[in-house]
Amino acid sequence: VNPVLRATGHRETPPAGATVDDPVLSVRDLTVSFPQPGAGRVTVVQGVSLDVGRGEIVGLVGESGSGKSVTAMSLLGLVPDPGRVRATSIRLDDRDLAGLTFDELRKVRGGEVGVVFQEPIASLNPAYTVGDQVAEVLREHEGLSRAKARERVVNLFDQVHIPDPAARLGDYPHQFSGGMAQRVMIAMALACGPRLLVADEPTTALDVTVQGQVLDLLLELRERTGMSILVITHDLGVVADVADRVAVMYAGQLVECGPTEEVFRRPSHPYTEGLLTSLP
Ligand code: ADP
Ligand code: MG
Repeated sequence: VNPVLRATGHRETPPAGATVDDPVLSVRDLTVSFPQPGAGRVTVVQGVSLDVGRGEIVGLVGESGSGKSVTAMSLLGLVPDPGRVRATSIRLDDRDLAGLTFDELRKVRGGEVGVVFQEPIASLNPAYTVGDQVAEVLREHEGLSRAKARERVVNLFDQVHIPDPAARLGDYPHQFSGGMAQRVMIAMALACGPRLLVADEPTTALDVTVQGQVLDLLLELRERTGMSILVITHDLGVVADVADRVAVMYAGQLVECGPTEEVFRRPSHPYTEGLLTSLP
């Protein structure tokens, strides 16, 4: 057994620091496996329990392949077939998402939960204007007319500081820089006023200066709307910049969780300690 995992063991209860009093999102004992040719199934996420508090920014950090994206996608019903997701519960406020059908989860995504991925331009459809794509979310979830949706999109682009928003509605994804395209993705995620934003490596594909601007935008949006954010990243710098609390994943397990400053100052798990001392 890997010595780091031996130090962790299997958890029956959430690790210290993983829970809060008033969670928007509350995940208990999430386990995800995939079939592996000749090896039965391989478990890539094991017993993850984590809360995201109201208005809180939680950073889920860990090296590449540690299971961060699978964790996030499992919450939203996006784990690709034939992945198998098990959880004691996945609660968004009072609703248990673990029991919902694919279509019901689709309504949750884009409605109560916004999602942002790593590659903004690849996440958009190249064949449609960005204005139409964001408007489509509003038409689907809120049944807005074309004119009303357009008006809202201009307002959303303004909120994410896309310059000259009305003029950009008719542009196609390839006409945007990476940073501006990520702002479009964030506008789309915000369209229906979500309580929770799940951002998976939102700055990884961006230039360093642009990374800071996108993180500032997330902080500003939290401040203004009070929404909660789960930000997934392999970059401890991102966590240090925005997260109130940090959850550290290693080999599919949550090995440590707590207020960002505390974890950075006094890591309790050998893996986190190694992660911090490897920083330049
Ligand atoms: P991270 O986001 O932390 O970099 P992931 O959550 O993407 O890591 O992946 C965790 C593990 O799950 C990896 O070993 C990856 O190869 C495996 N995995 C992810 N998606 C699939 C899939 N669709 N089928 C099989 N294995 C997968
Ligand atoms: Mg990932």
